Amino acid sequence: MPAADDLCRFVDASPSPFHAVATAAAALDAAGWSRADERDAWPASGGRGYVVRGGSLVAWDDTAATGPADPFRIVGAHTDSPNLRLKQHHDRRFEGTDVLALEPYGGPLLTTWLDRDLGVAGRVVLRDGSERLVHVDEPVLRVPNLAIHLDRDAAGAPDRQRHLDAVWSQRGRPFLAWLGEREGFAAEDVLGHELMTTDVVPSGRVGADGWLVAAPRLDNQATCFAGLEAFLTSGASGSGPVPGQRSVLVLFDHEEVGSSSERGAASDLLLTVLERIVLAAGGARDDLHRAVAGSICASGDMAHATHPNHAERHEPLHHVVLGGGPVLKVNQNLRYATDAAGAAVFARACESVGVPLQRYVHRADLPCGSTIGPISAARTGISTVDFGAPQLAMHSARETMAAADVEHYVKALTAFFELAD
Ligand code: ZN
Repeated sequence: MPAADDLCRFVDASPSPFHAVATAAAALDAAGWSRADERDAWPASGGRGYVVRGGSLVAWDDTAATGPADPFRIVGAHTDSPNLRLKQHHDRRFEGTDVLALEPYGGPLLTTWLDRDLGVAGRVVLRDGSERLVHVDEPVLRVPNLAIHLDRDAAGAPDRQRHLDAVWSQRGRPFLAWLGEREGFAAEDVLGHELMTTDVVPSGRVGADGWLVAAPRLDNQATCFAGLEAFLTSGASGSGPVPGQRSVLVLFDHEEVGSSSERGAASDLLLTVLERIVLAAGGARDDLHRAVAGSICASGDMAHATHPNHAERHEPLHHVVLGGGPVLKVNQNLRYATDAAGAAVFARACESVGVPLQRYVHRADLPCGSTIGPISAARTGISTVDFGAPQLAMHSARETMAAADVEHYVKALTAFFELAD
């Protein structure tokens, strides 16, 4: 299963949204895409390019377009995952131990972050305005559990404010001073930081014959990876976009905290890039509206496989099997954007390459999660279908999916890009 091993490499190289974007950008560079700067005049049409906005990225392949109003075929995913992040004032000392103050980002399964070997990743912005990606891939942090003997009533979930700080040193040094020494900057020059903890154990194959992938951030880097592979395969070495179509890959940051930021799915990022592609092709505003009206977005985010120990938590008619192929996600209250038309397109893509398709519906008596699909659809007006790959333990520091589903995922998304109308 080379795709599963490639996924492990992608995840290990991408400990933060900024790194995920850098990993994707490096792959796009190597395949001949050119990076554009949103501040510059847009590159001429008919090309392959991408832009980066913080932890988000949009890439396009305009080589098969035949006119400015040609529609877009879009695959979307999110780069961020729930984790523990450094507070602005994060240094505290307790009884000779240096303690690092952390707080949750999004909704991590908190207990899974305890007693785990944690490193640090993210970005710092220095006084001169330069930005540095930071990655300490060593077990420098530890958030210890409370011993069972001191918690006889086993109170359960850790408190988000009081119980998540990490022990890391006994030297009495500020954390940024230690970090700067390693990474080559002075702590006093750090005027801004977005730093987060990461599981340092490499991603890998587990289970008999390695049929499973165990990794951090599968939600949603598995989709970032599969979307990127499909985008590159269909664009660079495959049959490319269907004539008269344009392919777009969009990777959004901030999904886990609601998508409302300058680079989240609720931002203008995707629509602005689409507009500039149309304008560069000599189109007018009306051509953008025509292009958008004919476009479709496949919004990928991970799906819940039916848990063998908690089958009652799942909708009994919609059991989802590990290794059983991608999952179409449907919700009558539009927590997912899928409608009948979008479902049919995605089902046809899977069918065209013999990939099995599963269908997910959340129990009606449990609140359903959501994703970038409905938010992006509302922002752009583009018909959107939500789907995912099955996994267990979503939002754990360590998640699990079937290696076979990585293959299914890449194949299905490649077919989506290459599907004839
Ligand atoms: Zn997700």
